[in-house]
Amino acid sequence: MKNTAIYPGSFDPITNGHIDIIERASRIFGGVVVAVLNNDEKKHLFPVAERLAFLRASLKHLPNTVIKTFDGLLVNFAEKCGTNLIIRGLRMVSDFDYEFQMTLTNRQLNPDLETVFLMTDAKYSFLSSSLVRQVASFRGKIGHLAPPAAAAALKKKFGGK
Ligand code: ADP
Repeated sequence: MKNTAIYPGSFDPITNGHIDIIERASRIFGGVVVAVLNNDEKKHLFPVAERLAFLRASLKHLPNTVIKTFDGLLVNFAEKCGTNLIIRGLRMVSDFDYEFQMTLTNRQLNPDLETVFLMTDAKYSFLSSSLVRQVASFRGKIGHLAPPAAAAALKKKFGGK
């Protein structure tokens, strides 16, 4: 696909904020590769296979989106995909430091790599996977925060409504 961009992340699990960014990206770019980072399995709540399954179930309405997994450096994965475009989502100023650091590090590794930042809808500006995990772990309502596949798995894991 022409003008394909990679949206990398942990997606542990996917939230409605991620979906908002992917929908925006799929309207701008010819194709979007949603790339699940598979570096350190132990730190994650869901194994990569489950994170991929939640993404597949949640992105069916976006035909120019493919879901992949990668490990190691993002610059190497981008080269393998034949693109130099990276998408990252921005919520609040608090994201900026980390994203700036990552972007400049990646640029040093490959000066051709361009990172494009998309701003989320205001209603998702507070939302993160860790927040969803935390609310779910206390059996709080999460149906409005995460897509059905992820919400169902969280409810199964922790109990709750
Ligand atoms: P990572 O561990 O790489 O930060 P995440 O899955 O947490 O992986 O996030 C992937 C990308 O999605 C990051 O660019 C992050 O800033 C962005 N993101 C996460 N939650 C939201 C949200 N609610 N709105 C917009 N962007 C988001």
